[in-house]
Amino acid sequence: KEDLLKEVISHAKEYGFVFPSSEIYDGLAATYDYGQLGSELKNNIKQYWWKSMVQMNDNIVGIDAAIFMHPTTWKASGHVDAFNDPLIDNKDSKKRYRADVLIEEHIEKIRQKINKEVEKAAKKFADAFDEGQFRATNPNVLRNEEKIKEIEDRMRVTLEENDLEGVKKLIEDLEIVCPISGSRNWTEVRQFNLMFSTELGSVAGDAATIYLRPETAQGIFVNFLNVQKSGRMKIPFGIAQIGKAFRNEIVARQFIFRMREFEQMEMQFFVRPGEEMQWYHHWKETRLKWHKALGLGENYYREHDHIKLAHYANAACDIEFDFPMGFKELEGIHSRTDFDLKQHEQFSGKKLQYFDPELNQNYVPYVVETSVGLDRMFLAVMSASYKNEKLEDGSERVVLSLPAQLAPYKVAVMPLTKKDGLPEKATEILNDLRFDFNCQYDEKDSPGKRYRRQDAIGTPYCVMVDHQTLEDHTVTIRDRDTMEQERVAIAELRAKIEEKVSW
Ligand code: ATP
Repeated sequence: KEDLLKEVISHAKEYGFVFPSSEIYDGLAATYDYGQLGSELKNNIKQYWWKSMVQMNDNIVGIDAAIFMHPTTWKASGHVDAFNDPLIDNKDSKKRYRADVLIEEHIEKIRQKINKEVEKAAKKFADAFDEGQFRATNPNVLRNEEKIKEIEDRMRVTLEENDLEGVKKLIEDLEIVCPISGSRNWTEVRQFNLMFSTELGSVAGDAATIYLRPETAQGIFVNFLNVQKSGRMKIPFGIAQIGKAFRNEIVARQFIFRMREFEQMEMQFFVRPGEEMQWYHHWKETRLKWHKALGLGENYYREHDHIKLAHYANAACDIEFDFPMGFKELEGIHSRTDFDLKQHEQFSGKKLQYFDPELNQNYVPYVVETSVGLDRMFLAVMSASYKNEKLEDGSERVVLSLPAQLAPYKVAVMPLTKKDGLPEKATEILNDLRFDFNCQYDEKDSPGKRYRRQDAIGTPYCVMVDHQTLEDHTVTIRDRDTMEQERVAIAELRAKIEEKVSW
């Protein structure tokens, strides 16, 4: 699986999906550029989200708020005072770690130990092996499970109580049992604010410090009344947004999974106080269905309910995806109560209330939020679609079996040879199809090589124009996944492609 991430990264670069940012200057850590195919794929993911969240729902509308916001926004939201990660440096290696992530890496190492033990037993006992029973009774496994629980408890308590000395002690203890850094020489743990700041105009000093937004949600909260009034929205209703967010992440590894500049697709759903739990469960279920509907495979998803809740939440869960690095957060669903709107009321001195005509009552609505990282969706789709296939004839092919709706190109049109009027005929077909689908023209190299190239970028269909085309107005159309070719009339092409690639 480690190899899978490496392969996806190099494939993404080779074919123009994702490049390291400013690569000619050796790149900038945790920043990436989407290339010619990556930006198409990313746009298609956005569209899939926007269509299903905004356009298919009568009571959800979309906005596009500015990245810069009045600095008091971030006081009110709690980000100035509390949007911190605990940070620790190793004095010998000069490596910087996020304390909680480092502890989780230790836990992962112990988990791997358990899994090795299980694998060994599975090999040894073959048929007679019952994994569940082995895990429940083997003393090594039990001891390590116990260890994990103990570490998790200590981590939770120390972080919750902001006991930074305790966090350091935990890391030192862990490094003795299973070293990661190879050295025991640590600095103190410090809280590090994740917001990027800059100065507005030419004024210096505190008053002019503004932030790059660390989440898109606040742009929605401050516009709650604007949208509600101008759109005559009735509760329950939602406001959706896709946009950039910025976090000065301490640990920024794992390709586009954790970046310092990234994109979020968020929706805040405003509900009556007391009805938030029912909506929380509704959105949890709806969002999981949305992910599964992409067809990457149900096994890729699992839900993780939070026990430790953020100060503003009364329920929260993550939808996790089985990335090449293992199961990690892809989307968060949070019941944020009336915390944000109340804070903004207090800091702005403006009422942010809704008059409910059915209850004949004013109140500050409660909020259920769905928040998914666009770049993490991108990585999920790429890594689950990337396949190195062995074919029956012994050859190999790399195929990106992207959901057809998300593929950068829907169809590649090719003339069999570069003469006899075939390129002209192919161009004619392409020019007709391109109004409805993103198409690519490809006439270089042998047909086999061209097919492989299209497989590698995930194009669902290839249309080949040959000499018979000139006689009977038919072409062959090749399916990326089955590799089967079928002869169809040119007049039927549009409907055939449409069937596969439309939403
Ligand atoms: P994590 O625990 O992985 O840092 P988070 O819990 O801080 O994530 P949220 O604040 O809930 O994340 O943000 C919502 C979504 O935004 C996440 O589910 C994730 O998909 C995405 N996201 C957050 N931080 C990043 C990042 N640095 N790079 C890419 N996507 C991110």
